[in-house]
Amino acid sequence: MRKIGIFGGTFDPPHFGHLLMASEVLHSLHLHEIWFMPNQNPPHKDSDDTTDSIHRLHMLQLCTEKRPGFKVQSIEFERNGPSYTYDTIILLKNQFPDCTFYFIIGADMIEFLPKWHKIDQLIELVQFVGVKRAGFESDTEYPVIEVDAPLFEVSSTMLRERIRLGRSTDYLLPDEVRGYIEENHLYGT
Ligand code: ATP
Repeated sequence: MRKIGIFGGTFDPPHFGHLLMASEVLHSLHLHEIWFMPNQNPPHKDSDDTTDSIHRLHMLQLCTEKRPGFKVQSIEFERNGPSYTYDTIILLKNQFPDCTFYFIIGADMIEFLPKWHKIDQLIELVQFVGVKRAGFESDTEYPVIEVDAPLFEVSSTMLRERIRLGRSTDYLLPDEVRGYIEENHLYGT
């Protein structure tokens, strides 16, 4: 069986915090690959404010294509409506029967696990992996493998704000993503 980490997120935009976290999980759990999975309609975020999915997909492709072990999985763009992880995992398991899936979440998400759609069934289908994040508790009643990664407090929200204000994004945002943002005039550039 191939061990695959699924890293779901909005990636608006993807940044070095995401890449660092994915790399730590890839190596510490000896996974074959990490699949970055941008979500179409995040059930917990206001999708009117979210950048067009095609741009988020392109930015992810740019920052994963030259990084070994990283791939993009766009399955959530292939259907409409809210993208519940449970439904996505069912589809992935059917499509890739030779893979075991590890679902990666940041510590800020762990406390919300009990509210996830069909969480009790989902927990039987995937192994959750929680990565520490500054300022967040990671206590949960669910079985979550914890991975320690260096804390790197960068977020997409912070980057959107920095770009809007014309502040530097050096060492926070991969160059190829920054180039794409400028070419496509995203986030008020
Ligand atoms: P936003 O600021 O727009 O909410 P974000 O930077 O948190 O975005 P998401 O795409 O929502 O990014 O995050 C995807 C996953 O990555 C989430 O599980 C989140 O907890 C995690 N994550 C994001 N940034 C970091 C970071 N700097 N360190 C650890 N985990 C992170």
